This record gives sequence, structure tokens and C-alpha cells, in this order.
Amino acid sequence: MRTVPLLDTLNRPLSNLRLSVTDRCNLRCQYCMPEDEYTWLPREDVLQFEEISTLVDVFQSLGVDRIRLTGGEPLLRRDLASLVAMVSAKPGLNDLALTTNGILLADQIDGLKAAGLRRITVSLDTLKADRFIALARFDELTRVKEGLAAAHRVFSATGRGRESTLEAEAQAKLLPASGGGAPRELKIDSVVIKGVNDDELVDLIEYGKSINAEVRFIEYMDVGGATRWSPSDVVSRREMLERLTRHYGAIEAIRVASSAPADRFRLPDGTTFGIISSTTEPFCRSCDRSRLTADGMWYLCLYANRGMDLRAALRGGVTIDALRAMIRKGWLDRDDRGAEMRLALGAERATVPVIPVKWLRQDPHLEMHTRGG
Ligand code: SAM
Repeated sequence: MRTVPLLDTLNRPLSNLRLSVTDRCNLRCQYCMPEDEYTWLPREDVLQFEEISTLVDVFQSLGVDRIRLTGGEPLLRRDLASLVAMVSAKPGLNDLALTTNGILLADQIDGLKAAGLRRITVSLDTLKADRFIALARFDELTRVKEGLAAAHRVFSATGRGRESTLEAEAQAKLLPASGGGAPRELKIDSVVIKGVNDDELVDLIEYGKSINAEVRFIEYMDVGGATRWSPSDVVSRREMLERLTRHYGAIEAIRVASSAPADRFRLPDGTTFGIISSTTEPFCRSCDRSRLTADGMWYLCLYANRGMDLRAALRGGVTIDALRAMIRKGWLDRDDRGAEMRLALGAERATVPVIPVKWLRQDPHLEMHTRGG
């Protein structure tokens, strides 16, 4: 496997790949899929598992060592455990994780774990049933909580979650240790929206504690597809910390050099949580993520308008070396700083859409749910 990292124009290594396995979702969250109609990827364009596996080999040969499966809702992809088994069997992979809304998790968790899945993140924005329906437009809170209970049983019930791949990685790279409270194998991601669920920060942390899951609060982002976003809906990291400090007392920042999107914090009782502040304090300078859509378009930034069509290359019969050269050049040329550019717009941000709605209609790749969040 590659030892010298492949660096982009801002010295960011190619190491973290988010693999979307479907653009379909069984929720319609207001901050992600608020419209009534969507244009879906043609089914024949969606990569077969063998094609994904080939691409993963090429990415790995160029330095990718961490993979996260996402979507759409990844558990809607038939026989996902087979893909997990295929990818987890590859030597040299330091992490294989999944992001899911949890609805179908209870039935699939044992198979996924047996296939080699190492970490899991469940998106959950509210613990109130009526709010869940208003926000996600399906009455699925009960199934999500059943999924989380199953994930707790399989991933975090023994407390093993405290030893994490990322902590091991930090130690391997001789980065400063976080001083305990390493990230967990089970996480809950909550998008926080003003006046919608920002009164549930404490409840979500307490719920996380009860199942040994670390909660990460995500600032509402104006990504493609978030057509209802407005700056006044954003609860900033600063505001979240102020509110949590008022409730819990002094909060300590956990300092560890990492490319992880969340900054982590510790409450006085030792409980850890994270905040992903892409909207008000972007982490573009350390972002090592790229995204492969279910139909094989490769995007170098969540905000990018253009991607590289790896499916066309693969199905067109290019050699593996030519494919590797395409990806290598794409990464070497990478200069994306999408979230920083949005922040630089200042007050204008509200009037300049990330992607105009008519473009979204024409090209589903511009949607958050297609490129995997
Ligand atoms: N269906 C899976 C899930 O719900 O986790 C995976 C795909 S979803 C697009 C991935 C993540 O993106 C979720 O945690 C979701 O909350 C987040 N997300 C979607 N739209 C967002 C937005 N406008 N701002 C911040 N996070 C967003």
C-alpha cells in the first residue's frame, strides 16, 4: 500500500472516501429533501458492488484508508452486508463506517457487524415523536430508537466504544492524545435548527449517554438541496456551547490533531460530545474527504458543482492505470474550500443560493442526498 500521502494544492491528503450506495431515502428531512418531487439516478447507472470494489482498490492504492458508507439511506441498498464484507476484507483499511437514519438498522445490524463494519453513526435530530414527523415527514422515531438500541447492543454495550480507530490512528501518528474519552464506535448526529430542535441539546446528550453513544451536533448547512436554508435558522457552535455550559457548567475542549469534522468537548461529568461547525467555522483546511456517488461521480467537496465521471471511465474499459492517473490528477489539482467560500460571502450568503433550484432539478448529483452528506 502507498506510504507517501497524495497531497492536494493545500497539502491535504487523499485518505477519506465517502461512498454513497444509493440516492434513495425513506425520510424527507426538511433540511435535506424538502421538495415534493426529485429526479433520481437511473437504476442502470448505479454501480454494482464489483464496480465499487474495483474503485475502492484504486482509491486505496492512492492512499485512501478510511471509508464511510452513506446515501441517500444506505440500508435501502439490497444486501449491503455483502458490500461491507467485500470492502472490509481489503488489507490496509483503517476504518469502515456507516451513516444511517437507523430505520432499518435493527434488522441489519448483526449482519453488518459480522461482515466487518467497524463504526456506525445514526442521524437523529429529535426525541419527540410529533417533531420527528414534522421534520422528517415520516412517523419513524420508534424504529430509529429500536435501531439505536440494537446498535448499542452490538457496538457499544460493553464500553469498548471508548477505544476507537481514530484514537488508535492518532497514537500511531504520534499526535497528541485527547486525554481520555476517545470517540465512540456508536455516534448520533443531530442537525440543530433554530426554533425547531435547539431546545433538545441536553436531552439528546442524555439520551446518548444512556446508550453509550457520542452525540455530535451539526450546524445547519446551506448545501445543495437545503433549499429552505436561511442564516437565521442556524444555531452556531458558540451558541450551542453557551447553552450547554449554562446547563452543565464548564465545558472543556478536547484537543487532538485530527481531520475529523467534529470538534470534541467534555462535560464536567466526563461525557464527551462533538460539534460540526461547517457553517460558522469551516474546517476546509484539514478536509481530506471526497465523495463517490452511487453512480460513480467523484466529488472533491460537498459544495463542488462538478465531479469526475468514474463510472463512464470504468464501463468504457479504461485500464486500472488510466483510472488511477485520473484520480491522482484530480486530487493533485484539488483546491476546493467550499464551506470557507460560503462563509466569505458574509451577509450576501442568504441571497446567493449554493445551487439554484432549477439546476438541482436538472442534475441530481448536486443534491446532498445524492452525494452522501
Ligand atoms: N440517510 C443517512 C442519514 O440520515 O444519516 C445518510 C445520508 S444523510 C444525507 C448524511 C448526513 O447529512 C445526515 O447526518 C444528515 O443529517 C446530514 N445533513 C443533510 N442535510 C444537511 C444540512 N442541510 N445541514 C447539515 N447536515 C445535513
